[in-house]
Amino acid sequence: MARFLLNHLRANMNATQNRIRGFTLIELLVVIAIIGVLAGLLMPALQSSRERARQANCKNNLHQLSVALIMYKDDYKDLPNWLSDLSPKYIGKGSEGVFVCKSDRTQGKSDLSCKPVELIESITYEPPDSAETEKKIYQGLSDNIGNNGINACSYMYEFNGAVCKWEYSGYVTSSVPENATWKDVKKNQLAYGDNSKANHFTPYSETTFPVIRCFHHWRERMVDTTDLKNPKQGLTLNVSYAGNVYEGPLMWEYTK
Ligand SMILES: [Zn+2]
Repeated sequence: MARFLLNHLRANMNATQNRIRGFTLIELLVVIAIIGVLAGLLMPALQSSRERARQANCKNNLHQLSVALIMYKDDYKDLPNWLSDLSPKYIGKGSEGVFVCKSDRTQGKSDLSCKPVELIESITYEPPDSAETEKKIYQGLSDNIGNNGINACSYMYEFNGAVCKWEYSGYVTSSVPENATWKDVKKNQLAYGDNSKANHFTPYSETTFPVIRCFHHWRERMVDTTDLKNPKQGLTLNVSYAGNVYEGPLMWEYTK
């Protein structure tokens, strides 16, 4: 009888253990599944909050650069030829980080630091007809890296001193000579508007005419990579001629 009871007890215990093991496995799978679903839900939110933090950092950089630009303009009655000319007098030694956007995957080391290469490859508009043409057009638009010890720059400086390779004659007045610099072209555009449009000779607003642009957040708000005329297309962070930092679409002309 005692042996029977003992066997019965053992059998019961084994069954209980089996049940516990089986239940634990299912429970584990359920927990893993729940964690998986939660992680899937939270990851995009986490990534976008990181991107928002990087945008805030970028805006802070742009604000410091715009203050430095205004001081430079007060002293020299003109904008600098290069962003790096702001260093070290207006952007002090040790503050070189303000030239780099945290969303720039090359950290200002790209040969085309003004524009991410994948942006150039993923969009088609006129001009250019190819990524190579685009590269030629924008060569020199970014800062002249290496000048004044600045060896990384994420930002496109529109008023730079490089010879403008863009076919600008249709967009500016005839006072802009051949082999003009980007600064010459941009100053003319700002003062007289876009010559290709009906309302030319109407100056652009100084609060939306960009001087410095960051293209490293362009994935945000991207709705159609083939339609750059969409005013919601992409996100850029910009410093205007007046000095305010603003968010705009890829084509700043569509800034509201
Ligand atoms: Zn940025």
